[in-house]
Amino acid sequence: MQNVQSFVAGEWVDPGESAREIANAVTGKIFARAGNNGFDTSGMLEFARAKGGAALRAMTFHDRAKMLKALALYLNENKQHLYDVSFASGATQKDHLIDIDGGIGTLFVYASKGRRELPASQVLIDGELEQLGREGVFQGQHIYTPLKGVAVHINAFNFPVWGMLEKLAPGLLAGVPCVVKPATVTSYITEACVRLIAKSDILPEGALQLVAGGLGNTLELLNCQDVVTFTGSAETALLLRNTPNLLENSVRFTAEQDSLNASILGEDATPGTLEFDLFIKEATREITVKAGQKCTAIRRIIAPENLVEPVIEALSNKLIETSVGDPQAEGVRMGALVSTEQKQDVLSKISQLEAEAEIVYGDQGALEIIGEGVEHGAFVAPTLLHCANPDQSMLVHEVEAFGPVSTVMGYRDRQHAIELANKGQGSLVASLITHDAEIARDVTLGIAAFHGRVYINDRVSMSESTGHGSPMPHMVHGGPGRAGGGEEQGGIRGVKHFMQRTAVQGSPDMLSAITGKWVPGSGTIKKPAHPFTQRFHELEIGQTLRTEKRTVTLDDIEHFAEFTGDTFYAHMDDAAAKRNPFFPGRVAHGYLLISFAAGLFVEPNEGPVLANTGLDNLRFQKPVPAGDEISVELTVKQKTPRNNEYGEVRWHVKLVNQDDDTLAEYELLTMVAI
Ligand code: NAP
Repeated sequence: MQNVQSFVAGEWVDPGESAREIANAVTGKIFARAGNNGFDTSGMLEFARAKGGAALRAMTFHDRAKMLKALALYLNENKQHLYDVSFASGATQKDHLIDIDGGIGTLFVYASKGRRELPASQVLIDGELEQLGREGVFQGQHIYTPLKGVAVHINAFNFPVWGMLEKLAPGLLAGVPCVVKPATVTSYITEACVRLIAKSDILPEGALQLVAGGLGNTLELLNCQDVVTFTGSAETALLLRNTPNLLENSVRFTAEQDSLNASILGEDATPGTLEFDLFIKEATREITVKAGQKCTAIRRIIAPENLVEPVIEALSNKLIETSVGDPQAEGVRMGALVSTEQKQDVLSKISQLEAEAEIVYGDQGALEIIGEGVEHGAFVAPTLLHCANPDQSMLVHEVEAFGPVSTVMGYRDRQHAIELANKGQGSLVASLITHDAEIARDVTLGIAAFHGRVYINDRVSMSESTGHGSPMPHMVHGGPGRAGGGEEQGGIRGVKHFMQRTAVQGSPDMLSAITGKWVPGSGTIKKPAHPFTQRFHELEIGQTLRTEKRTVTLDDIEHFAEFTGDTFYAHMDDAAAKRNPFFPGRVAHGYLLISFAAGLFVEPNEGPVLANTGLDNLRFQKPVPAGDEISVELTVKQKTPRNNEYGEVRWHVKLVNQDDDTLAEYELLTMVAI
């Protein structure tokens, strides 16, 4: 008998006397126990806040991103152990790819996005500067800083690894420690993963704690700096979000619940088209992968009325090939549900659905189960229902049978398909299989408000499409209403859920000091050395070069026009330029000015500046007629280390004329040797 332990305040804690027993989903044999541990919940939260939080906040986003990458690499090397442990939950090797490899993949994505999209500092800037007064001496900037609390992640049974890692990655990247509470029935898999993480010594002490079993009074001890992220049933979410302490202290609570996800077959996707086959393939996969125990699985298959029969026939022909049994036995495509309780729940939900729909495929009595000693396993035959009257039916849009079960229903026209999809009252994902862009637009605009994700697939995208049921770390996961109203992931959006957004107001100098990014109008530093002769670590934020002046002549403009071929009338024809509301007469090309600017500020000799990698936010503010004198102010705005050899320097470039009027402004990106 395995004791599933919790990992609290740096110690592994055994389950208590009356712990819950856990059975092997395939054989029905009890093999582990978890829960009812007697540990100090306030000590656990204090440990996270004092140790983990402090250590994480001392790191920059880039340090944390590197930590996530190291963790991803480590888990990737050790994943075989997690595969071995996971078979007892009824999952097949293919299912492990979603849970285990999917979880590790999420860590990799956050590690990479953290390095590429977040600054090498502790403050995340949100949006542009806001000038709040006429002179610009009082400005505003929104910033994000990490919450000074704990993230309590409560997870569903079906993704014991992905469920933990997809929440851990954005939370740790934000700088917030966590307590993970997996569903008890698969807590032994999460425990195996946490043991690996603890052994790796990659995370700071207190950054990750594990509670296998109940949370005790943890939710009653949380405050406004803490976050609860919940994944599971709508029923439990409702119960937990009503915890008085969470409501009294406005503790953030996000929920990812069940939902009645739909897949719509476009009118154009008739049998014989690539899209029809694709639809059948996606639907079959969603019914059978993880034995249908996926929050994103397709529960409602919405097809044109005249295609309902062919859809049922094609799906039945695919489902018949789905061999069910011990996930480790040869030839098995679909494993068991997680427990016999779950099996009973699914069978009872099928009975409920039968009040409004008839079973057209799937006979529980005739299910052949492959493997030895599987008589007491939690196996359920893939089941397809047909609802002939989806307008009058309620249950098919409400009851989630969390297993290999889906209901086919017909639609009369596009509007009807939209109405049926939205009858689920909010879901995580809806898919649409069509090769017709007009259908895609109409349906998407009709259903988007009810769905967290709309997945469109056709012959063009199918070779790279990631699947109806797979949340991608780059894209938001969650949905309105029935789906919980929460949002996770979505790249850096997910990191912000663990941070506080604050509107900071003050002078440019104050904002520069707080954000670590030079704000126009704040002090500058002048050094004798040309900034292009200085290495990355020698350059200082605010360091400025003011160049010599250069007069723009008509010859320059004509030479540039002929040389480049840009003979646009505003540069060539004085009368035509004057008729244009923007120009006083012939003016210099904007690109000529930028080229002159480079000519004024570069230091030509080989030096630490390695490359110019781009321009951002270029604006031409005032036209420049021949005779104007231009000069440039070049200021170090932001520095971002990229690797051991070089870092990115973002320069603020301002072109002015002889009267100090701003002609153009932009940000120049260069790579500078460390
Ligand atoms: P569940 O019964 O609602 O349990 C979810 C989690 O809540 C488990 O960790 C459970 O722990 C915990 N929990 C239950 N009662 C609690 C309480 N009183 N206090 C604190 N924690 C409590 O859901 P499930 O059966 O594990 O998962 C299946 C459901 O999750 C399905 O409906 C599915 O659609 C949904 N789901 C949604 C998503 C999504 O991303 N939207 C993903 C996966 C699954 P114990 O196990 O210890 O009771």
